[in-house]
Amino acid sequence: MSIALPGLDEMSKRRYDVVVAGAGVAGSVASKLIAERGFKVALIESRPSSSVGTKVCGDGVGIHEFNLAGVALPRAEVERTVRGVKFYSPPENMIFAILGPGVTLNRHAFGQRLLQEAQDQGVEFFSESAVTRALLEEDKVAGVVARHLGRLEEFRAAVTIDATGITAAVRKTLPPSWPVAERLDRSRIGVGYREYRRVTSEFEDYCSLYYDWEAAPGGYCWIIPKKGNLVNTGLLVPWSHSIATGLESRFEKFLRENSALRDSEFVRSEIGLVPLDHPLPTAVAGGFLTIGDAACHANPLNGDGIGPAMLSAKIAADVVGSCLGRGVSSVDALWRFNVEYMRVQGHRYSGNRVFSDFMRGLKAGEVVSLLKALGVKKEYTSGDLFSELSYLNRLQMILRVGVRPRFISHLLATIRRMRAVSTHCREYPTEPSRFNRWRTILDGYIGTQIRRPHTSGIISS
Ligand SMILES: Cc1cc2nc3c(=O)[nH]c(=O)nc-3n(C[C@H](O)[C@H](O)[C@H](O)COP(=O)(O)OP(=O)(O)OC[C@H]3O[C@@H](n4cnc5c(N)ncnc54)[C@H](O)[C@@H]3O)c2cc1C
Repeated sequence: MSIALPGLDEMSKRRYDVVVAGAGVAGSVASKLIAERGFKVALIESRPSSSVGTKVCGDGVGIHEFNLAGVALPRAEVERTVRGVKFYSPPENMIFAILGPGVTLNRHAFGQRLLQEAQDQGVEFFSESAVTRALLEEDKVAGVVARHLGRLEEFRAAVTIDATGITAAVRKTLPPSWPVAERLDRSRIGVGYREYRRVTSEFEDYCSLYYDWEAAPGGYCWIIPKKGNLVNTGLLVPWSHSIATGLESRFEKFLRENSALRDSEFVRSEIGLVPLDHPLPTAVAGGFLTIGDAACHANPLNGDGIGPAMLSAKIAADVVGSCLGRGVSSVDALWRFNVEYMRVQGHRYSGNRVFSDFMRGLKAGEVVSLLKALGVKKEYTSGDLFSELSYLNRLQMILRVGVRPRFISHLLATIRRMRAVSTHCREYPTEPSRFNRWRTILDGYIGTQIRRPHTSGIISS
């Protein structure tokens, strides 16, 4: 059920404990969990209620991601169960697999379920209401302004959560001097071209990633099985590569060369964006917190962001619930979100950002060598890939895959740097006063300081 907005006079008196902007995975999960703790929550979404959940996505999620976030496993929303992810070098040479059960989702049905669960907990849902900016009062966020049917309305709250995805609609309107307001560099945006296609026989129960850098330089192509003979297929590349040559013509090369897609029938196509950066070094301000893609929580190596959106929503709900229970919402109080997120997931994704920079700098042949080096074991369990690689004997690796010693030492240096970044993030400062020093060290590890305070949009050109 969506609620029609009342007039401005009535609206200006309207107050909530928490206002959540964006009813994607992050926003719907967070608002449900906070309402469950007995707080009054408004969830504000720019789209009509019926289209919540529609999202350009590969639709694949590991079962462990639901367990980690404490979100009930999908049932009716599952289109296929999968056994893991297979990695290919071009055109179709399977190198290794990471095993672990997963599902491919009907994203629309999944989004509708999460929204319904939020409303069942008493969350007030406002559809077709686009948040335009944060309300600021005495150096704190005091809510948001949203546009509904051409009118601006105020939603006030002790805590405001920005879960508006890559647009970061609230965060981008915060004062540029606030660390949480830093903008996303365009080079760190992944552009995805996705097609649904009907193949001639059912695709196997694996998500398949193809590292064909002629088709998808700096990224990858994928085929993910859906219900029956339907597949979700496409490519994800860094922003710069999406401009040089059209995504569609890049995808055609993959389509021509992949035997599983031969004679397949086009159903529909779309384009979508995902952040491929390390998580925001701080995701909080006074009365404010940001989660999911709005906080760059997707995995910078592959763009997987459904699990991170659910997890960051859970951590946010725990922290916000405990803060509101004590009647506080200052930056100091909300800071625990940063510490927890970095401890549970952010440390790993910050390290992955280092590895993704290394990958992007490789030539097509070097990517194949890298995959072969990783393919010394044919099957991995989720999470043990990099530890395995770092223990490999250098000479063994050179002999096995015939790569140059300089490449191997660069690779091993990258893995050491990943580890250092990950350790640094696990030692996240427990108080804001120590943040600047911690941040300077992080920038030193990650390379150039690519994020600057924003001037207009959240994305810099
Ligand atoms: C091509 C592609 C393939 C992907 N494949 C996978 C995959 O296979 N597995 C995986 O785990 N992840 C994948 N992802 C990433 C994943 O889809 C996202 O990380 C995830 O959906 C992020 O969820 P979110 O809730 O943070 O943001 P979103 O899902 O983007 O939700 C944001 C919500 O905010 C609303 N909104 C935006 N602006 C406003 C505003 N001003 N006011 C009010 N509401 C607003 C939007 O309408 C939307 O409902 C892929 C992404 C892309 C682009």
